[in-house]
Amino acid sequence: MSLRFRVLGSGSDGNATLVEGGGARVLLDSGLGPRQLAERLQSAGVDPTALDAVLVSHEHGDHARGAAGFSAKWGVPIGGTEGTFAAAGLPREKLPTLVAIEPGQVRTFARLSVRAVPVPHDAARPVAFIVTDGDVTLGHATDLGHLSRGLVDALRTCDAILVESNYDPAMLRDGPYPWSLKERILGPFGHLSNDDVARLLEKGLGESCRHVVLAHLSRKNNDAELARMAAEEALVRGGRRAVQLTLAGVLGTDWIEVRRPGPPPGASRQLRLF
Ligand SMILES: [Zn+2]
Ligand SMILES: [Zn+2]
Repeated sequence: MSLRFRVLGSGSDGNATLVEGGGARVLLDSGLGPRQLAERLQSAGVDPTALDAVLVSHEHGDHARGAAGFSAKWGVPIGGTEGTFAAAGLPREKLPTLVAIEPGQVRTFARLSVRAVPVPHDAARPVAFIVTDGDVTLGHATDLGHLSRGLVDALRTCDAILVESNYDPAMLRDGPYPWSLKERILGPFGHLSNDDVARLLEKGLGESCRHVVLAHLSRKNNDAELARMAAEEALVRGGRRAVQLTLAGVLGTDWIEVRRPGPPPGASRQLRLF
């Protein structure tokens, strides 16, 4: 079995990631307008009505902006924590279905399971999502101020990880934001820096991890090449050169396929010998 995923938008203009596997399709975050989201789904070859759910990580506009409109227009159930629903002011009476998924809980769509893991961010009850078809697993973690033990343990089980690499610390410190906003981003409930992600990639990846996507890069406080270099160097230090690294731009990524590796070369030959 396998999963595939495709980032449809990334960064403060709007985040959304489409995941397919186990006979289901879910959208993680819906920070683009409903029309734009439908267009990007269609250009990925997916009809909006074919989604099983739109799951929202937290109420900030760049993750939740289009969720209610999209859900109402296309009849797709919307999911998230009660804290997210309340803080986003999602109009329950106008939405087809609300799927509550609290931290630690699992919701299953066909054979695709989604687990919510709490993350430290300045939102009502934000979560990361761990998605699996029972064979391969994707971790989706954005936005968060630091890497908690619980999240690192969850990410260690993943064959593919999408993680935010929001800012370069020097660019943020020297950049145009007011100090109060810099403090919020740098703080334990803000966002992850390139250095935070480097530590995760050097020491926190599970043996089976083969894909890493860097997402939610700040336009003002980061540079794609700095983020890529920090991640590549960390993968080399961690002995993980085989991991495929992808940067998600504002328009997202192409499809990324996540499969279990086949048997090592020679395994079948050896069988034939005996
Ligand atoms: Zn946020
Ligand atoms: Zn965000």
